[in-house]
Amino acid sequence: MVNALTIDVEDYYQVSAFESVVNRAKWSQYESRVEKNTQRILDFLEACQVKATFFVLGWVAERHPTLVKTIHKMGHEVASHGYSHRRIYTQTPEQFREETKQSKQILEDLIGEKVVGYRAASYSITKKSLWALDTLIEEGFLYDSSIFPVWHDLYGIPNSSRFPYIIRRNGGSIREYPLSTIKLCGMTAPFGGGGYLRLFPPFVTKWAIKRLNHKEKQMSIVYFHPWEVDPEQPRIKGSAFSKFRHYVNLDKMESTLISLLHDFQFAPIRDLNPSFLSISDVISYEGND
Ligand SMILES: [Zn+2]
Repeated sequence: MVNALTIDVEDYYQVSAFESVVNRAKWSQYESRVEKNTQRILDFLEACQVKATFFVLGWVAERHPTLVKTIHKMGHEVASHGYSHRRIYTQTPEQFREETKQSKQILEDLIGEKVVGYRAASYSITKKSLWALDTLIEEGFLYDSSIFPVWHDLYGIPNSSRFPYIIRRNGGSIREYPLSTIKLCGMTAPFGGGGYLRLFPPFVTKWAIKRLNHKEKQMSIVYFHPWEVDPEQPRIKGSAFSKFRHYVNLDKMESTLISLLHDFQFAPIRDLNPSFLSISDVISYEGND
């Protein structure tokens, strides 16, 4: 079973956990660490001979064009993480279309290839923003990986499909790769990315991936961010909860990731076998927006 390895390329001061204390207009005043941290990830992926999907923020791509070219040249998939890292349901459909087009164009100009994959800032395709799927279809995206089938304060569509599926809309269809979850005692629990990956000991994540791969015969979708392999990053003064969410176990992340790369097979989303797709949950998406 091949699992998906995905990296959301953004800097430590751009995350949703700190958006109430970091003014977007002042982003450029923060020390930039995204290039160095992403290079570190590229190095250990190279050492482990693994390719991944990098969802790159347009704002970062504009300021670090060489980084985007390097990711592409090293054989990884370059996909879009939007432009501004504003959650979709805080934007109007017009704003969303404009920034989606803009960020796609920036990436395509840099790599000289079509960008077909999308992941929303903070997984913000929810029932309030299903209209974004229509925009993605119209703008030429073939897949999305933004829907978390869980309850969470910032994201999630509880009870949506836990496995890759096709979403049909009036204007066409798009493949959805939902973030990984495990069913425990009737509850759907997230694992395999970001804070969850840092919070749980590696054996728990490995147990969950094995369970998904072998018992449910499904791939997992692992995700993380360049700032998560950077324990030295400057500290931002946020709420205790935000600080916990952002800083817990940063020093252990790289070894956790390398251990996962050692134990499981990974590939970029573009290379995954589409026979895993089902259309089981499409019906529940129609008419919800
Ligand atoms: Zn992000």
